[in-house]
Amino acid sequence: MRTFDTLIIGAGPCGIRSAIILKEAGLNVAIFEYSTPGGKINIAPRVDNYPGFTKIPGPDLAVEFFNWLNKAEVEMIPEEVTSLTKEGKMFKIQTPEGEYEAKTVLIATGTKERELGLPNEKELFGHGVSYCAVCDGHFFKGQDVLIIGGGNTALKEAIYMADLAHHVYLIHRRNEFRGNKYLVDELNALDNTTILTPYVPVSILGDDKVTGAVIKNVETGEEKTLELQGIFPLVGQIPNSKFIKIDGVTNEWGTIPVDPKTKQTSVEGLYAGGDILPRDIRQIYLSEVDGKAACKAIIEYLKK
Ligand SMILES: Cc1cc2nc3c(=O)[nH]c(=O)nc-3n(C[C@H](O)[C@H](O)[C@H](O)COP(=O)(O)OP(=O)(O)OC[C@H]3O[C@@H](n4cnc5c(N)ncnc54)[C@H](O)[C@@H]3O)c2cc1C
Repeated sequence: MRTFDTLIIGAGPCGIRSAIILKEAGLNVAIFEYSTPGGKINIAPRVDNYPGFTKIPGPDLAVEFFNWLNKAEVEMIPEEVTSLTKEGKMFKIQTPEGEYEAKTVLIATGTKERELGLPNEKELFGHGVSYCAVCDGHFFKGQDVLIIGGGNTALKEAIYMADLAHHVYLIHRRNEFRGNKYLVDELNALDNTTILTPYVPVSILGDDKVTGAVIKNVETGEEKTLELQGIFPLVGQIPNSKFIKIDGVTNEWGTIPVDPKTKQTSVEGLYAGGDILPRDIRQIYLSEVDGKAACKAIIEYLKK
């Protein structure tokens, strides 16, 4: 079994920033990533608030992050962590390919999109239902699509899809959006989009592919059928924390409470940062700041 000073789980902004800092501090560190390095920014149509870039497509920024990681010569282990335990003072990590141990671990696994929970949503996933406009948007060129959600993610993906699709419907269960007003204004200014509030989805139509959706006005109870080919539910996030087999690390929502200064979890030597923490605002810079704070604490802990 290979032993490390620190193992980082997740190569998003938090994990990448942290891996580079720890590597530069001379630690024996590696980072696990089972999907595309760069994390969630790979599915961000555009990032408009990252210093140094006025506006940059998310996947391009993810490439910059990955290049930076490679330049620092951080070892990346392209495997999915399926179990994290603690035996004595050492943390044990299991993946389908192997077993690893480390004196300290940083969990930076972020979140995944929440499903609507509608009857045929799972069956029609990949046949009209998608949780990522940047990944799948091109399949809906010239077609009509529905975006569901009221946060920045839903608003940005609706703007992105308006460029590709024939018509974009956006529904949200409240009349006010959680997302930024400038994005709502930008969407309103487009002539191939329709915003419908306060509406919720009732059912997804179609047997082997999406043909429409039934939506309901939550104030009046009135139902409407929209004929369309694509549905993008963007209604929140679920933390990627199922692999943690140590009691008391996650809270009832699956996020990880940490000490605000050191980012240490309830377990000594175990740290967490980024979108996996309990928080309302999820941003790249917040994830990086968490990583920086955790690294400082990790270096001090290892010195002891
Ligand atoms: C559409 C969209 C637009 C956005 N726009 C902006 C913006 O303009 N500005 C901004 O600042 N932020 C934006 N964000 C938010 C930003 O992308 C996130 O806050 C940030 O990426 C979180 O970083 P993280 O490192 O905490 O987690 P993530 O980026 O989610 O990275 C976590 C990584 O861990 C990996 N992972 C998970 N579980 C495991 C496991 N068991 N084993 C191995 N690897 C695992 C995942 O594959 C992923 O790569 C946007 C997000 C979305 C979805």
